[in-house]
Amino acid sequence: MGRFLVTLAAATAVVACSVATMVVRRRMKWRRKWRKVVGILKDLEEACETPLGRLRQMVDAIAVEMQAGLVSEGGSKLKMLLTFVDDLPNGSERGTYYALHLGGSYFRIIRVHLGGQRSTLEVQDIERHSIPTSLMNSTSEVLFDFLASSLQMFIEKEGNMVNLAQPVKRELAFTFSFPVKQTSLSSGVLIKWTKGFAISEMAGEDIAECLQGALNKRGLDIRVAALVNDTVGALSFGHFHDPDTIAAVVFGTGSNACYLERTDAIIKCQNPRTTSGSMVVNMEWGNFWSSRLPRTSYDIELDAESMNSNDMGFEKMIGGMYLGDIVRRVILRMSQESDIFGPISSILSTPFILRTNSVSAMHEDDTPELLEVARILKDLGVAEVPLKVRKLVVKICDVVTRRAARLAAAGIAGILKKVGRDGSGGGRRSDKQIMRRTVVAVEGGLYLNYRMFREYMDEALRDILGEDVAQHVVVKAMEDGSSIGSALLLASSQSVQTIQSV
Ligand code: ADP
Ligand code: MG
Repeated sequence: MGRFLVTLAAATAVVACSVATMVVRRRMKWRRKWRKVVGILKDLEEACETPLGRLRQMVDAIAVEMQAGLVSEGGSKLKMLLTFVDDLPNGSERGTYYALHLGGSYFRIIRVHLGGQRSTLEVQDIERHSIPTSLMNSTSEVLFDFLASSLQMFIEKEGNMVNLAQPVKRELAFTFSFPVKQTSLSSGVLIKWTKGFAISEMAGEDIAECLQGALNKRGLDIRVAALVNDTVGALSFGHFHDPDTIAAVVFGTGSNACYLERTDAIIKCQNPRTTSGSMVVNMEWGNFWSSRLPRTSYDIELDAESMNSNDMGFEKMIGGMYLGDIVRRVILRMSQESDIFGPISSILSTPFILRTNSVSAMHEDDTPELLEVARILKDLGVAEVPLKVRKLVVKICDVVTRRAARLAAAGIAGILKKVGRDGSGGGRRSDKQIMRRTVVAVEGGLYLNYRMFREYMDEALRDILGEDVAQHVVVKAMEDGSSIGSALLLASSQSVQTIQSV
């Protein structure tokens, strides 16, 4: 009996020992894997660093590039496109106008009525639809017929809302969120597609004419009377409400900015023919590039695999289309180099499968167990990872979004520097008298819906400008500003009233 007990005790000890060894080994293995992913995160953090000094270099670089783009055609990666917009809406406009807005992910149709005062602006109808992905790679004919048919349905639904006994020539602003070389307020040719659009044989085509042709084919009595970049629409909307608005920035699927420039500073344009002495310039800042931009191996891969590689470098770091894919690439690298996320998920290897909406949902997940993170990872084929790993994913979202937001702030500060509103003029930074109130209108789903992006951007802008200057700079969010503002701009460019609402 005694011997049996001794044997049992020994056997138990052996089992306990081997279990303990297994546990220790497993823990060591986990630690090794964990160290590996922490290393990847550290590298990402370092590569994405945007200390104030670096942001200030960006500000200077943007202001210098803006200047170069104004001096000569092709003088900079910033195209600094003329818009032929010199007078912005001020609230006195009258009439009923339409806008059709083709964005990167959505198209919108609106009808506004203006009664001659700011307070009488009435957005009578607004429709917003996702752009079917099949359209992005279709033909010009398919795209414009789709837009025309959507507009036709919108107008058919108007019914009795508009008094059709009046002259019914409808006036439409076409808000277009891609680079266009304008030839007048109502015409311009496509320079190139961006944001995943790839409709062949369209570069060089007059965009307004294409839409007008499609509307005519359907027998619609609508005149495409203005072709407006989305940033210019946002600026118009901002200016309508607040005349101190001098610039507008869009952070949506892509990113771009425009601002009001003195015509004598637009050296490449000999005869700008404006009455106000200024013109809105569409920067096309998505294409900004500087070797000082904090670029990571993920950005390089994303660019190389994109359909417009070596192009739109800034947009690929700050645009809503891309942030999710950068985060996806980091998680994929971690999962390839350690099995901390379980077996490598084929879903995770699919480009653009992780949307920026999901990045913000994970980043702003305030459940103690990070249940939203768990749900989104599950959708990516990554099931049941420990809380520690879910926290790591939140950190990745934070690093990528913080970099984007801080670079966005540097872009805005670059514009302010160019127009002498950053307080640096003549070294009189502390002289409050020279600082004028400056409003920057901001539009786009990324800015409007992603709180952390907004907060990081606002914080960085304050840091770059310093409190003394920042108190004079107002960043104003404008939902649907691009679409509504384009209609307002069209209204301000015309004095004739076209349709009367009942
Ligand atoms: P468009 O670019 O078509 O004009 P929006 O300005 O509405 O459209 O921007 C849409 C983009 O904004 C989406 O593709 C996405 O990248 C980003 N976005 C929208 N909602 C969110 C969100 N909740 N969190 C983060 N990004 C968002
Ligand atoms: Mg947009």
